[in-house]
Amino acid sequence: MTPFAIALGSNLGDSRAVLSDAVARLRRTEGVQVDAVSRLYRTAPVGGVEQPDYLNAVLVGRTSRDAAALLALCHEIEDAHGRTREVRWGARTLDLDILTLGDVRADEPGLTLPHPRAHERAFVLIPWLDADPAADIPGRGSVQKLLQAADAEGVRLDDVGWQ
Ligand code: ATP
Ligand code: CA
Ligand code: CA
Repeated sequence: MTPFAIALGSNLGDSRAVLSDAVARLRRTEGVQVDAVSRLYRTAPVGGVEQPDYLNAVLVGRTSRDAAALLALCHEIEDAHGRTREVRWGARTLDLDILTLGDVRADEPGLTLPHPRAHERAFVLIPWLDADPAADIPGRGSVQKLLQAADAEGVRLDDVGWQ
């Protein structure tokens, strides 16, 4: 079983319910063991077109799947929530990004590991620390350290909670 981290985001539809369902689906998947899920954060969109705020979270676990199979699972769950791919970085019902899968490195447009932008995104690093205070990005360093260099403005703890 290889440790992994996945970032979850949603800014269309009933985002809280969508994210809860995505976690439930991951928990139900054979070969995927969910160990911890962060609190929920409400974050201002970064880049892309004008769009609503996001709800973001990070989940960590262990899996017997390889990178391609884990990515396929993420796409399957996105599709189950009617995810369409129109505008890059545009609004979406569900976005699942693989942040890390052990120390696997991949460098294809279809799959880059570790995720190429995770290390600079406070909306990823803050929930990631919640789920795993010892998290580390191979080749980049500890998430705690990376967060010190990131712009955390626009990332707020969602006070309603979820899990
Ligand atoms: P960003 O990657 O900057 O967060 P995004 O999540 O909005 O942008 P998408 O449109 O969801 O981008 O994904 C585009 C493609 O990125 C996906 O179809 C997928 O094949 C590819 N991809 C590459 N690396 C990863 C990864 N680590 N996790 C998820 N998808 C990835
Ligand atoms: Ca993303
Ligand atoms: Ca994505």
